[in-house]
Amino acid sequence: MSCLRELEGKMAHDHHFINQGLGLRRRVWVPGPVIVGAGPSGLAAAACLKDKGVPSIVLERSNCIASLWQFRTYDRLRLHLPKKFCELPLMPFPEDFPMYPSKQQFVEYLEAYAKRFGIKPVFEQEVESAGYDESVGLWRVKSVGLKGEEMEYVCRWLVVATGENAEAVVPDIKGIENFRGEVRHTAEYRSGSDFRGKKVLVVGCGNSGMEVSLDLCNHDAHPSLVVRNAVHVLPREMLGRSTFGLSMWLLKWLPIRLVDRFLLIMSWMIFGSTGSFGLDRPQVGPLELKSKTGKTPVLDVGTLAKIKSGHIKVHPSIQSVGHHSVQFANGRIENFDAIILATGYKSNTPSWLKEKDMFSQKDGMPRKPFPHGWKGERGLYAVGFTRRGLFGSSADAKRVSEDIENFWKAEFKPNISP
Ligand SMILES: Cc1cc2nc3c(=O)[nH]c(=O)nc-3n(C[C@H](O)[C@H](O)[C@H](O)COP(=O)(O)OP(=O)(O)OC[C@H]3O[C@@H](n4cnc5c(N)ncnc54)[C@H](O)[C@@H]3O)c2cc1C
Repeated sequence: MSCLRELEGKMAHDHHFINQGLGLRRRVWVPGPVIVGAGPSGLAAAACLKDKGVPSIVLERSNCIASLWQFRTYDRLRLHLPKKFCELPLMPFPEDFPMYPSKQQFVEYLEAYAKRFGIKPVFEQEVESAGYDESVGLWRVKSVGLKGEEMEYVCRWLVVATGENAEAVVPDIKGIENFRGEVRHTAEYRSGSDFRGKKVLVVGCGNSGMEVSLDLCNHDAHPSLVVRNAVHVLPREMLGRSTFGLSMWLLKWLPIRLVDRFLLIMSWMIFGSTGSFGLDRPQVGPLELKSKTGKTPVLDVGTLAKIKSGHIKVHPSIQSVGHHSVQFANGRIENFDAIILATGYKSNTPSWLKEKDMFSQKDGMPRKPFPHGWKGERGLYAVGFTRRGLFGSSADAKRVSEDIENFWKAEFKPNISP
């Protein structure tokens, strides 16, 4: 620790320049944690820390908070879960917000949240590497700005909040490079109005794929949906309550398999057999599957009715793509004007985080399963990698801030109090 104190003494609030061959990288000592990412998770972590008197700095590659929500989601998006399960710590949603806030309302809420806790991220700072420097016992976080200006933040604690959805996943599909129509990931899809009258193939049947298909239908496009694997589709509400809320409540009293059985019976009563229109269910129930693999059930907002009525066609996996056509695994060939990849996102930590113990290099997620994935070694933390959405982000943010607070009080407070 003496080494840390020494460095702290030398660097506190100072900006230094270090020569790095061709250019100069500005170096800043940060007394509190550095948080990477100004999405809901990063904001929640910064707010909880602030509440405990621990200052932090938030680095964000984009030019605003919640860039996923502002730039990479479709217009009709609403929170999939009721607002009470999506609120960040210390500040509920406004009472006059609907049960499922729109994305604009969610962004408004996040902006008010950042304002309330005085969180001012450093924007346009993409973290390109972060590693632990054994020689001084500190993290070195290197970022680059839009104009190529380089910074190094040196800190005791590093909070990774870059999200499970940092980069779009684009699968290898045979022949897709030859397709003459438009190919777009859902990250670039805003509204079905761009596709009016067109035949559009949506690849992937998670929440995004199902909702984009519905949106296309509502804008007079002709969507088809590729369903490669078995999927659980549940009604968003049952018995007048949200399916998610009801499940959480039932889990307090009943084992997961019994709750799954209840959900499947209710779904069958509402939808009939989803298998009969091409959406086979997995062998394992929806909640058990979620807890074992992280695979989220689809909460239906009207897509199933359009599939049943034939307005959305369902196809098996793609075998190959031609100039204008797609051949499916059952041998069928159909022409399309556009392909939309609803093939999800992945974490980007393997590309910049040099520490290999806490995060897997394979999928960029913490190696330890929920609820143990938030804490690594030597002051490294993760917020928002639980596969449990905003609910998981809030739980992580609280744990991380409590843990850092203990160190902060023990090691730093006596040093900075008068
Ligand atoms: C379409 C869609 C709908 C969803 N709906 C819900 C819902 O209803 N309820 C729910 O609970 N969850 C929902 N989710 C999950 C959702 O992603 C999370 O709940 C939430 O956005 C996670 O917040 P986050 O801060 O962890 O990640 P993000 O929101 O992805 O924020 C991470 C931030 O880190 C920044 N970043 C990444 N890499 C770097 C870097 N190297 N340097 C600097 N900054 C970086 C990004 O620019 C981004 O701003 C949805 C996701 C999607 C895609």
